[in-house]
Amino acid sequence: MSPSALMPVQEALDRILQAFTPLETETLPLTAAQRRVLAADIQTPHALPPFANASMDGFALRFADVRQAPARLRVVADIPAGRPVSRPIGAGEAARIATGAPLPPGADVVVPVEHTDQPVRGSGAPLPDQVTIRQAPRHAGENVRAAGSDLPAGATVLRAGHPLRPQDLGMLALLGRETVPVRRRPRIALLSSGDELLPPGQPLAPGQIYDANTTSLSSLITALGGEALPLGIARDDPDDIRSRLQNAVQQGADLILASAGVSVGHRDYIKDLLAAEGRLDLWRINMRPGKPLTFGRYRQAPFIGLPGNPVSAFVGFLVFVRPVLRRMLGLPPHRRQIVTATLDEPVSSDGRETYLRGRLSLREDGWHARLTGHQGSGHLFSLVQANALLILPAGVKSLPEKAVIQAWLFEQDLTLHP
Ligand code: AMP
Ligand code: MG
Repeated sequence: MSPSALMPVQEALDRILQAFTPLETETLPLTAAQRRVLAADIQTPHALPPFANASMDGFALRFADVRQAPARLRVVADIPAGRPVSRPIGAGEAARIATGAPLPPGADVVVPVEHTDQPVRGSGAPLPDQVTIRQAPRHAGENVRAAGSDLPAGATVLRAGHPLRPQDLGMLALLGRETVPVRRRPRIALLSSGDELLPPGQPLAPGQIYDANTTSLSSLITALGGEALPLGIARDDPDDIRSRLQNAVQQGADLILASAGVSVGHRDYIKDLLAAEGRLDLWRINMRPGKPLTFGRYRQAPFIGLPGNPVSAFVGFLVFVRPVLRRMLGLPPHRRQIVTATLDEPVSSDGRETYLRGRLSLREDGWHARLTGHQGSGHLFSLVQANALLILPAGVKSLPEKAVIQAWLFEQDLTLHP
């Protein structure tokens, strides 16, 4: 590739991904594992439910005895939840049973208390000698949860690579587990740089702007399963930049992610530091926004430098850093929610692979797409209004109104999914 040629997006991504492998696993208590990525397949060690049990408060008995209602039966046992089954139920007999209590041997149906002559809130009441069944059950097994009816023993419940949700964690608890193996969270050190940048909360002096990227990139990192280690804002000064990069290495960052200061401006010192103390690959990517991309290492830590403009940094993250995070989490790197949409206005670019900020709406004939205003890479409001990135492939300079376009519903990809 000649120095002036632009590198295809996919090629750059492939090269970056080669530098990363899935991180090691760690074992966490269930309550600490929300949204963490499961690192092993999970099988149920026993059937669920483990034993046949009543799904209603009522009376356990033999279906053959109550084909016709009313029927009068002798009450021979009381089975609260959590007690082992007592004596078998014979012909003409019934046991009072609570929801979740084991079905006694011999019984094959539970008649709810509402279908008997007994008081509804009767579990604390003395055990009656007899019960009248007023309404016959329709079939054997009614109101009985059979052993294994939820899951047979040995069934795979969850697969490796699954981000754990509350219902999954509840299921793991039901299987008797206290802990779960998950991928360690990628630790991403985040560096903003530029003499003009100020953290929000302080009064702006002339010529200054607030640092947007630390906030948007660290939010992206946490939303996608990583841990952000903010390195603050480096001045355009090699010593300041170096001490922050060293800090990242000391903290054991899995990746240093910088924005700005990586182009060829005369005060862009980061690339000199990488070249001297690590390794530097400066690429010009066939992409808009976000042409300049730096990749390399600072000492042993992998380094990615995104452009400084807030839209470029955000889109660059989605295209290059999200797949890296997914790889470190042991997930397939590049899964995107893409739909085909009809353009409600013409769009244009310059032939680079372009990610336009757009608004998608679903109508009767499918998805429709519009732009969200000014498409400059410093215009963050276009992204605030957007729910999709409209993708013009490399080589396509324009598309007319009513043409179809691939649209990336990126908001759906701002959470962890398999
Ligand atoms: P640079 O790559 O340093 O030339 O920066 C490109 C543009 O992005 C300049 O207009 C910077 O002011 C702007 N910029 C860089 N970093 C940030 C940031 N963290 N937040 C907001 N704007 C930024
Ligand atoms: Mg700068």
